[in-house]
Amino acid sequence: MVLPIYNLIWMPAVLEAAGLKVAETPGWRSRGRAEMGTVRGVMCHHTATAAPGNMPTLKTLINGRSDLPGPLAQLGLGRDGTFYVIAAGRANHAGAGYWEGIKYGNSSFIGIEAENSGLANDPWPDIQMDAYHRGVAALLAHIGADAGKCCGHKEYALPKGRKPDPSFDMPTFRSSVAAFLSGKTPEPPIPAKDEQDRPTLRRGDSGALVAALQRALEIDDDGKFGPGTEKAVRAAQRKAGLVPDGIVGPKSWAALNPPLTASTSALASAPASGPAPQAQTVAMAALPVAGAASLPIADDANHPVVVRGGIAFGPGGQRFASRLSQGFYTLGLRPPPPGWGGHRRQACLVPLLALLPQHARTKADSKP
Ligand SMILES: [Zn+2]
Repeated sequence: MVLPIYNLIWMPAVLEAAGLKVAETPGWRSRGRAEMGTVRGVMCHHTATAAPGNMPTLKTLINGRSDLPGPLAQLGLGRDGTFYVIAAGRANHAGAGYWEGIKYGNSSFIGIEAENSGLANDPWPDIQMDAYHRGVAALLAHIGADAGKCCGHKEYALPKGRKPDPSFDMPTFRSSVAAFLSGKTPEPPIPAKDEQDRPTLRRGDSGALVAALQRALEIDDDGKFGPGTEKAVRAAQRKAGLVPDGIVGPKSWAALNPPLTASTSALASAPASGPAPQAQTVAMAALPVAGAASLPIADDANHPVVVRGGIAFGPGGQRFASRLSQGFYTLGLRPPPPGWGGHRRQACLVPLLALLPQHARTKADSKP
């Protein structure tokens, strides 16, 4: 039997292009009650389930309930802001209702079920709400609709009062969606680093700081932030009374507070991704502030490093090198050789360029 492929197959690409995390469920392209009609808008829901976890209702949204066959939405939105792609065809999410001249909800609206109980003790994580705004804006932009074509289930459902979801204020929600549609992009909700310069870590990151985090979580410290690490972070966050979004930002760093070794401290001001530093390190490099103020250089993976105002910045604008002593900076990830302290350490400082690998030097030399 050849399964149909329904029309909404464009959703993941559109969401990914908006910078959102997307997880496709197996078979979603052929999942649906029928083909969609003309897609006119997006309908917001919450799952009204109190279960913990990122998207505990996913199976139900795919398969349905005893009283209502699935799929129950085209998209699920996890607490960490991941969009789960459930169906490219029609879903049973709207029921009877009316919004902006539209009365056939299931064939006209893309339904998003966001994981939330709807209760006062289940605040919406910033990262989830941010993804909700961005995702709805991206979907509306794709179908050529404005923010007015985003409705809450509670606004659409008839008779009035039939549905309470979503729990948040829809006019406020629409104004945020409108801001995204007009090209205004608010700051991401989680700061990029905490006060100790520890970068916000999330799935996909790697390096010595991830390994330090893993040791604090008492899991295998392979230095790779994958699903297992994310799961352990969520569990630790729940234990600490934080929003279990699986992302290690300032609040999670403060709660976990892993002891940092010399090398991971140095890493705290370096890019979060990239290879972990080798055990037998040593190259100490330094450069005088004066004369190097705008020198373009590169690290040994050939990532450009730019020195501005006496501080070296990595490719993402992160602080890459930390201050070692007055007028000198150590290059990124390398701790000093053991026992090389005090003025002896200073004595080993040589101009930074001399210690860079040949290819990096060539690159640097070729720049004005
Ligand atoms: Zn609903």
